[in-house]
Amino acid sequence: MRPLLATIDLAAIQHNYALAQRCAPGRQAFAVVKANAYGHGVREVVGALLELADGFAVASVEEAVVVRELHTSTRILLLEGCFEAAEYALAAQLGLDVAVHTAEQADALLAADLQQPLRVWLKLDSGMHRLGFSPAEVRAWHPRLRGAAQVAELNLLSHFACADERGHPLTEEQVEVFLDLLDLDFDQRSLANSAALLTIPAAHMDWQRPGIMLYGATPFADLSAEELGLRPAMSLTAQVIAVHEVAAGQSVGYGASWMAPRDSRIATVSCGYADGYPRQAPEGTSVWVAGQRAPLVGRVSMDMLTVDISAVPEAQLGSAVELWGAQLPVDELAQACGTIGYELLSKVTARVPRRYRQF
Ligand SMILES: *Cc1c(COP(=O)(O)O)cnc(C)c1O
Repeated sequence: MRPLLATIDLAAIQHNYALAQRCAPGRQAFAVVKANAYGHGVREVVGALLELADGFAVASVEEAVVVRELHTSTRILLLEGCFEAAEYALAAQLGLDVAVHTAEQADALLAADLQQPLRVWLKLDSGMHRLGFSPAEVRAWHPRLRGAAQVAELNLLSHFACADERGHPLTEEQVEVFLDLLDLDFDQRSLANSAALLTIPAAHMDWQRPGIMLYGATPFADLSAEELGLRPAMSLTAQVIAVHEVAAGQSVGYGASWMAPRDSRIATVSCGYADGYPRQAPEGTSVWVAGQRAPLVGRVSMDMLTVDISAVPEAQLGSAVELWGAQLPVDELAQACGTIGYELLSKVTARVPRRYRQF
């Protein structure tokens, strides 16, 4: 078997959910499990949170079906609502909470003949300008949806553009826009993602929507997961599958882009970009080999990458390697590659076996 594994610590996810709860005591939360639970495996993550989470949030009816199979009654929120009118019938059958962010969605809802009414989340564009109604449109739709036969609950939902940058002025503006609408009669309100849940109590409302924090990564550039008290859920581990002595002046890997400045020991590791390791990782990026950090050298290939282990004499054929996880925060690798932990975690590909543990 190829020595590459994503080990998912379900107890860490439970710990992180409990931390989310402590940040907003007495409030409820949808655990966000879209995109296969950010790459961690939606079935296992939902299973680990079934007793804890007040509900789950997903990006499509297809994702909701998987969650509903695991729990017959938990709340499941469709963050972008229905993509076509025909989906409302299925949403009602599954008992979903649905966002409504366009006039077309609202019209289709009001025209739908449903087996049971839906919990509807009117999506407010409070300043991100990606999805949602303007405040004036929310005011116009409110009386039309309130009391409609298809609507069991009428709720208000919005999303932050910059909550991950602490003190960003747009965040305060978005809170203001949201609060301004609360003279309208809504059953439930939801505004906070992980970043706002962790740092903006004024945004907590009734329902939180923590995603990235559940997986033990940070939404912030300047505040680490460890500082936030989060435990990393995924460790991506591989092995040294070859060791080469490379003389000064010889190159390593595709394009001969890295030239050994001195005689070097080079380890070849069983993980590449087709597994989700970022090809753009720069030379010098840390890889954990045989218990310590060593620098990536040469280009990342599809199935392998190469590391300079000249300073790690214990490293040898078969040595354990961690690409990210408990020793090497995924956020650190993401930052080195000009991306975010969200992208690395959700892009671990299907060929990487996931193994689960609960301790
Ligand atoms: C993905 C998503 C979230 C979760 O965001 P995190 O930053 O991962 O906590 C919350 N709300 C909406 C609308 C989302 O799309």
